[in-house]
Amino acid sequence: MKEVPKILVADLGGTKVLAGIVSGDGKLQHRRKRESAGDGELKDILANLYAALDDVLAAAASSPAAVALASAGAIDLKKGVVTHSPNMMAVNGAPLRELLSQRYGIPAVMLNDASAAALAEHHLGAGRGSRDMIFLTVSTGIGGGIIVDNKLYQGADGTAGEFGHTIIDLNGPADTCGGYGCLEQYASGTAIARKAVNLLNSGVASSLADVLARQGRITAADVAAAALSGDPLAKEVFDAAMRALGTGIISIVNVFNPELIVIGGGVSQTGEQLFAPVRRAVAEHAYKLPASRVKIVPAALGDEAGAVGAALFAREELGL
Ligand SMILES: [Zn+2]
Repeated sequence: MKEVPKILVADLGGTKVLAGIVSGDGKLQHRRKRESAGDGELKDILANLYAALDDVLAAAASSPAAVALASAGAIDLKKGVVTHSPNMMAVNGAPLRELLSQRYGIPAVMLNDASAAALAEHHLGAGRGSRDMIFLTVSTGIGGGIIVDNKLYQGADGTAGEFGHTIIDLNGPADTCGGYGCLEQYASGTAIARKAVNLLNSGVASSLADVLARQGRITAADVAAAALSGDPLAKEVFDAAMRALGTGIISIVNVFNPELIVIGGGVSQTGEQLFAPVRRAVAEHAYKLPASRVKIVPAALGDEAGAVGAALFAREELGL
């Protein structure tokens, strides 16, 4: 039997880059993770990306057939560039696909990180066996990917699936994407932490004041834990975020009628604190037929989904 070619992969985000080699069974080998310096200059981001990939190549005995990049941000698939990435502004317009192909002397592909994760969850994770699936990642930001009829749907240019920029309040705050009141402003980990800190600073009493004093910062996980132990401020902030997330997901159910919605990312690690209110919102407020059909479940592949999905995309695109 012919051996499936190995793919060199990287998942590039605003804070971390994860690289490795994906073998025929979809496993990530020679895994390397390092800071990405996403808020820095292009040369620093590229240096971190190259260093991670060079490390992987030095450790791997075999030479890969292609290099595949999953990147945060809105991707122009035809040009192979990121057109807008709020957490990694310096890469906007940089020809990342071409740079990788030249540096490693092999064909390169590139796609959005959440689209890549959707592909991996559909083929190998929580979405196995489903035909129409939506993937959401609720983390620093909120991203998504769309599987229609067993295929990744990326839209005319490659930017489809930006569920974090579903507008849930037209009178809400302006967002970097040009819209107003985007879901990401209400339900991302960043938004949850920011709202808790704002309330603390306005003088509202909370057990989170001690956490802030001890750590110098508050995370969405801190807010979730305090909410679970009955802290009123934390409960108000977390419940409001889950109402916003539920609102966004009601629209997804009504628009796509998916069999399955798979939710990953740091905030989804809170488990039933996220899933219970979201499922309830869909049951109460979405169209009845798609609401009774859809299953809303946790992602299965963790932080490797984007990197593994990039390799699956490379195999499809390049016929490997
Ligand atoms: Zn937006």
